Amino acid sequence: MRGDYHTHSIFDDGKSTLMQMAEAAERKGMFYLGFSAHSYQSFDESFCVKRNKFQEYLREAREIQALFEAEGRRTNILVGIEQDLFGKQEKGLDYTIGSVHYLHQGGEYLCIDASPERLSRIVEEVYGGDWYRMTEDYFDLVETLPERTGCDIIGHFDLVAKFNAGNRFFDEESPRYLRRAGEVMESLVKKNAVFEINTGAMSRGYRDIPYPNMPLLSLLRQLGGEIIINSDAHTAGTIGYGFDYACAAAAKAGFSYTNLLTRSGFAKIGLSCFQSWQEETILRGA
Ligand SMILES: [Zn+2]
Ligand SMILES: [Zn+2]
Repeated sequence: MRGDYHTHSIFDDGKSTLMQMAEAAERKGMFYLGFSAHSYQSFDESFCVKRNKFQEYLREAREIQALFEAEGRRTNILVGIEQDLFGKQEKGLDYTIGSVHYLHQGGEYLCIDASPERLSRIVEEVYGGDWYRMTEDYFDLVETLPERTGCDIIGHFDLVAKFNAGNRFFDEESPRYLRRAGEVMESLVKKNAVFEINTGAMSRGYRDIPYPNMPLLSLLRQLGGEIIINSDAHTAGTIGYGFDYACAAAAKAGFSYTNLLTRSGFAKIGLSCFQSWQEETILRGA
């Protein structure tokens, strides 16, 4: 029994319509699909929901949710948002993923996940080439997500490592990097945040591991933190991408279960049950 709660569509920077996403989720045997459009940012409209389109997104998403429910379809639809720390706050959602995509320095919003060139330039110009100072600033912002976005889920906790495959820019296992990341993780666990294991950088070819990396995922387990597995799919074809890998990483970190987000909140589900989606599909289809 699987769910996938971090997905994008043509309302923001995705490539598929909401209906295409919903139908693909059903074909893949997803028990839950969550839509999570990027909140609107006036200072950068390149990947968020277009200006004044959020109500349209909500309406269309709710229509699909109602249709799937009325027809007794296999997939339950939830309507959410990926709320950027600096984005416009919206109401009326089933759930919120809180994410940091920008640093805020010198009155400017600096996007950290646009390209390695852009991020390198930020580190050179703002941080004098010190990647660890940049990552510490990033985690300082992540720490404030629950209060400032009211999020249920922490999005891609170590997004700051998106372009860092092979430790290209900094050492992800170094004490300096892990110290602040670990402190922030501990602080968020105390606030009862649920962390996603996010395979988005895998499907898009940036990394061959999900967020968070293995040392951080192991720490999360030690701290008694909660997980939920998400694809951050930007196309219908990548819904559920890498979930077997994510389950294996979770098990390696010591987790025996993950979470599903239901209409009445989070529900624990054993990793083996989460992985048995094919049988579930066959049983329910029989
Ligand atoms: Zn994001
Ligand atoms: Zn996303």
